[in-house]
Amino acid sequence: MNTTNISHILSEIEEVTTACNRSAADVNLIAVSKTFSVEDIKSAINAGLISFGENKAQELNIKAKELNDEKIEWHFIGHLQSNKVKYVVPVAEFIHSVDSLKIAIEIEKMAVKLGKRQKVLLEIKTAPEESKYGLTDKNEIFGIIKYISNSTSLDFQGLMTIAPFVNEEAEIRKSFITLRNLKEEVQKLGYFCKHLSMGMTSDFKIAIEEGATMVRIGSAIFGNRIYN
Ligand SMILES: *Cc1c(COP(=O)(O)O)cnc(C)c1O
Repeated sequence: MNTTNISHILSEIEEVTTACNRSAADVNLIAVSKTFSVEDIKSAINAGLISFGENKAQELNIKAKELNDEKIEWHFIGHLQSNKVKYVVPVAEFIHSVDSLKIAIEIEKMAVKLGKRQKVLLEIKTAPEESKYGLTDKNEIFGIIKYISNSTSLDFQGLMTIAPFVNEEAEIRKSFITLRNLKEEVQKLGYFCKHLSMGMTSDFKIAIEEGATMVRIGSAIFGNRIYN
């Protein structure tokens, strides 16, 4: 982690938003801190960041507890299993990765228990062959949004996707456009749907051009991840 990375990303966001007549204030930078230490996160906080993303339930829970005194907004961005909901709901401001009615109901149960209104996004698979998780069936998507919107313990906030890891920019862009079109469709049905969580280190500029309100950036901020 170094502060130069962060200021570089922020100025790139500024540049792209200006170029497409958007405001940088409408794009939230989520620093994806998975695999990185709480020390790294503290440095990023000192550099001015507030939103952090994690994709493993227990890792999020442990870091949130260790960083309890810091002003952090946690975003859960990974696949969530029912038995792990207890690690995530107590600490996450946003859960980006709701991919079934079943998990929405599990999150709701935990939110009720905690007396919390949990902000959630639906994960959409916009490039069928690429990502493992995410919803594709529109009736299923609208059904889950209806369920969430009718729940007093869930707060439907928008849609999330992971673009295909390919070189062709057109293919990546297509994925983001698919998500934006879906958001418009959801809004036409009368639902509140504010956020488009899309764009990572390699493709966040394209995502912003296509309407991203949240970009999830890991390696461009913290460096390359080492998995073990
Ligand atoms: C790891 C991860 C990111 C960040 O990826 P980078 O390429 O390091 O920016 C974004 N979104 C999700 C869902 C992730 O798992």
